[in-house]
Amino acid sequence: MTDHDAKEALRDDIRWENPIHHERRIRVICIGAGASGLLFAYKLQRSFRNFSLTVYDKNPDVSGTWTENRYPGCACDIPAHSYTYTFFPNPNYTHSYSGSEEIRKYFQRFASTHGLDRYIKTEHEVQAATWDDAQGKWVVKVKDSKSGEVITDTGDFLINATGFLNNWKWPDVPGLDNFEGDLAHTAAWPEGLDLHGKRVGLIGNGSSGIQVLPAIQPEVRSLTTFIRHNTWITKPFGKDGPREYTEDEMEEFKDPNVLLGHRKEAESGMNSMFGVFLRDHPVQQEARKIMAEEMEARLDGDKALSTRLIPTWSVGCRRYTPGPGYLEALRAPNVHVVYGGVTEVLPNGCRTSTGETVELDTLICATGFDVSHRPRFPLIGRGGVNLQDAWAESPRSYMSLGAPDMPNYIMVMGPNSPAGNGPVLLAIEAQVAYALRMLDRLQTENIRSFVPKASAIEEFNEYVDAFMEKTVWKDACKSWYKNGTTDGRVTGLWPGSALHFTEAIREPRWDDWDVTYQGNRFSWLGDGYSQTETTPGADLAWYLSNEDRTEWGSRWKRREAEILPTEETEEEDKFVQGKLVDDGVRRDSAAAVAA
Ligand code: NAP
Repeated sequence: MTDHDAKEALRDDIRWENPIHHERRIRVICIGAGASGLLFAYKLQRSFRNFSLTVYDKNPDVSGTWTENRYPGCACDIPAHSYTYTFFPNPNYTHSYSGSEEIRKYFQRFASTHGLDRYIKTEHEVQAATWDDAQGKWVVKVKDSKSGEVITDTGDFLINATGFLNNWKWPDVPGLDNFEGDLAHTAAWPEGLDLHGKRVGLIGNGSSGIQVLPAIQPEVRSLTTFIRHNTWITKPFGKDGPREYTEDEMEEFKDPNVLLGHRKEAESGMNSMFGVFLRDHPVQQEARKIMAEEMEARLDGDKALSTRLIPTWSVGCRRYTPGPGYLEALRAPNVHVVYGGVTEVLPNGCRTSTGETVELDTLICATGFDVSHRPRFPLIGRGGVNLQDAWAESPRSYMSLGAPDMPNYIMVMGPNSPAGNGPVLLAIEAQVAYALRMLDRLQTENIRSFVPKASAIEEFNEYVDAFMEKTVWKDACKSWYKNGTTDGRVTGLWPGSALHFTEAIREPRWDDWDVTYQGNRFSWLGDGYSQTETTPGADLAWYLSNEDRTEWGSRWKRREAEILPTEETEEEDKFVQGKLVDDGVRRDSAAAVAA
C-alpha cells in the first residue's frame, strides 16, 4: 500500500470524522482594519483552520488611525522602531520618529505580505450588532458606503478593533457652523488645505496640536494658538532625537540582527519608565525637576511662557509629548499665544475666554477624540442590554477585554487597556493572543458562549479604582485618560506597566467567565480517537525522549526560560549590536524618561 493509499484508507476511517478537539467551523467578524484588526486577521490565519473571517472597515484603506491622521507634522511620538509588531520589523523607517505616511505604508505592507486583503471589506461601516441568544450568534448590520446598501452578517464571535482614539470631535463651542473660513480637524485633515500666508487659529495643545504647530508655523502669516491648560513637553524618548537616519544606518538596518539590537534598545527604554507614573516614586520627583529645567531652557528665559506652560501637576498626569520644535515655535514672531479657551466661533474668527476677539482665515481644531468607550453603534448583548447605555456613565470592562452581558465579544484596546503605559503594539498583541485562546476553546470544546461574570467585572474595576489613587493619572489635570475630565475615573490606562499587562492576561482566568455549551459539555471528547492518531505522518510516540523537554510547570520557570539569557542567547547577543543597557539604567529610571 502506498503512503497515498494509506492516507485514503485512513480517511474512510470513522476516527477522522470526530476525534477529540475536532474544530467546528466558526465565523468571526472583526470591526476595524487598523493595527489591531490587521494583527487579528494575521494571527487567526496563522494558527486556525475551519474558520471564516470578515474584517469591516469604514475607511477606503487599511491602517486605521494612520490612514485618517494626515495633518502636517503627524508622526510617531515614540521611537519609530518601537512602533512595529514584535515579529515584523520595519527596516524602511527613514526617521527615528517616522511620519504618518511611513507608518501607514508599514501596515499596508504587513497586510499585503500576509494576503490579508482576502478578509477585509473597506468602506463598510458597522451600524449595529445584536446577540441572538437562540442562535448563539452575533447579527451585524453593515452599510456599504459606496452603494448605500445595508447587509446583514452573522458570526459566532465579534472582535471590536475600532481603536480608542478614533471618534474625533469638534470643540464644544457655539458658532462652529457659522465659520466662513476653512475649518479643519487634525484627525480629518482636508486634502490640499492651503495655509500659505493665512491667519490661522489652532485650538488645543494635546499631542496633535503640539505636532501640527511647528509644522505649519513657518508657512502661515500668523498663528494664534488657544491654550487652556499647561502641559509637559519632553525631549524625545531614547537617545535618538527626531532625525533622519543616515544612508549608512539605513544600510545597517537591512541586517535583521543590527535592527533587532536597535529595536531592543528603544523598547527597553520604553519599558523602563513605569515608576514615573507612581505618585511617590523618586523617578517622578526627579523627572519633574529635569523636565521643568529642560522646558525653561528651551523657552530661553521667557518667564511668561514658562509660568503658563509648565504644569503644577505631576509629569505623566496627561500624556506627555515629545514636542520637537514646539516650544521654540511658540516664541516665533508670527505666533500669538492666547492663554484661554475658545468660547465662541464667529464667521470671521474666534472669541476667547480672555475676552479677546481674533480674526482668522483658517481654524484648526486639534481637539481630540470621544474617549468614552461607548460603542459608536448600538451593541446589544444578552437580555437586550445595549452597551451604549450600560457605559453611558463610565466604561467598566473585564480586564480591558470583555464587556458586561456581551457574549463572545473581545475588545482590542478597550477601557483600561495600556494605551499609554509602554509599547502599545505589544499590548495589542497580548490582547489578540487572548482572543485566540478563547476562540480555540470555543472551536474545540463545543462552547457556545463566553460572557465575563458580573462579579469579576465589579472586582476588577474596584481594584483598578483603588490602584489608580496611587498614580499621577489621578492628579488634577484634564486628560483623556479620565475621559476628558479633571477628577473622573481613570479608564484610558491599565493599572500597571505594559509588561505587567502582558503577564496579567497571558493565561486567561477562565473562572471569570460564564461558559455555556452546545449540548453535552463533554461531547468534544468525540469518538475516542486522539488528534495524534488522526494526523497523517504523526509520530505516535512523540513524547519519548532522552531528556526532559516538557513545558515548565510553574509561571516562574516558564517566565525565566523566556526572559533570562541562556548560554545560547548570550552567544547570539554578541552578534546583536546596541545591546541592552545595564540593569541599573533599565529599571524605572528618570534618565530613561527624560533622556
Ligand atoms: P487631546 O490630548 O485630547 O487634546 C485636545 C486638546 O483640545 C486639549 O488641549 C484641549 O484643551 C483642547 N480643547 C478642546 N476644546 C477646546 C476649547 N474649546 N478651547 C481650547 N482648547 C480646547 O487630543 P490630541 O491632541 O488629538 O491627542 C489625543 C491622543 O492621541 C494623544 O494623547 C496621543 O495618545 C494620541 N496621539 C498620538 C500621536 C502620535 O503618536 N503621533 C499624535 C497625536 C495624537 P483642555 O486640555 O483644556 O481640555
